[in-house]
Amino acid sequence: DGVIWLDGELVPWREARVHVLTHTLHYGMGVFEGVRAYRAEQGTAIFRLEDHTDRLFSSAHILGMRMQFDKEAVNAAQRAVVRENGLQSAYIRPMCFYGSEGMGLRADNLRVHTMVAAWDWGSYLGAENMEKGIRVKVSSFTRHHVNITMCKAKANGNYMNSMLALKEALECGYDEALLLDNEGFVMEGSGENIFLVRNGTIYTPDLTSALDGITRSTVIDLARELGIPVVEKRITRDEVYVADEAFFTGTAAEVTPIREVDGRLIGSGSRGPMTERLQSLYFDLVHGRLDA
Ligand code: PLP
Repeated sequence: DGVIWLDGELVPWREARVHVLTHTLHYGMGVFEGVRAYRAEQGTAIFRLEDHTDRLFSSAHILGMRMQFDKEAVNAAQRAVVRENGLQSAYIRPMCFYGSEGMGLRADNLRVHTMVAAWDWGSYLGAENMEKGIRVKVSSFTRHHVNITMCKAKANGNYMNSMLALKEALECGYDEALLLDNEGFVMEGSGENIFLVRNGTIYTPDLTSALDGITRSTVIDLARELGIPVVEKRITRDEVYVADEAFFTGTAAEVTPIREVDGRLIGSGSRGPMTERLQSLYFDLVHGRLDA
C-alpha cells in the first residue's frame, strides 16, 4: 500500500503499472538511483538528495535519455513519497525508463517516464553482518566494455553481470560478490564500492572502472577529516587477501565490514577498528548527529 510518484502524480502503489511492451523491460536501457532517508532529530532527512539527483541526470545525459522533469521536480517527488507514505526512514528508488510507444532499438522517438517509490528497507546485507562482517567471493563474472567505459552512469543495463555475480556468490554460500575488471584488478561489489585498510592507510580503487559512489565519497571525506590517508589506486586481488580490514560502501549497504574473501580471513576475521570508526561516523552523519 501507499503511493508512488509516476510522471508527476502520486498514484496508489498497486496502480503504478507499466505495459508489457515497455521498452526498458525488453532492452534494459534506463537509469536509476538508490537513495536513503534517515530519521534525524529535526525530522526525516534524505541523505545527499541533490547529489543523487545530479547523478541521475548525468546518467540520463550519458545515455542520451531526454528527461521530462527538472531536478527540482525529481527532488520534490522524492520528498513527497517519503512524506506521503509516512516513512521515518526509507530507501528511495527513482527510475527513468522508455515507455511502450514503440519497439526496436531506436529510442529517440520514445517518451522517457519517471517514477519514484520509497519503502522501509533495513540493512541491505543483513543487520547482524553490520557488526560481524560478510563473506565475499571474487566473481567469475567481470565487467564488460560498456560498464567500464560508462561507469559514471547508474544504468539498468549495467546490472546484468552484477546480478550474475551476486547469484553465483549466494549459490556458493557467500554473502556478496567482488567483481574484477577485465585485466584482473579489483573493481567493486555487485552494488557497492570496496575499501581496504593496510598499515593505517585506506585504499580504494580509483574511478576508472567503478561507479562514483556517493557513500564512497562520503567515507573518503570522513577518513580524511580524521587524518587517515586515503589512496585511490588500482588494487590487485591479493592486496585484498592481505588487507588488515576491508569494507563495502553503498547507499543500500551503508558501511558493511568484510570478514572473509574467498575463504581467506581478512585481518582478524571480524570488523576492524577503522571500519567500526568510519561506520559509526557514517551513521552519525546520516542521522544528522554530525555536521556535514
Ligand atoms: N557500485 C555499484 C555498481 C552500485 O550499484 C552502487 C549503488 O548505488 C554503488 C557502487 C554505491 O554507490 P552509492 O554509494 O552512490 O550508493
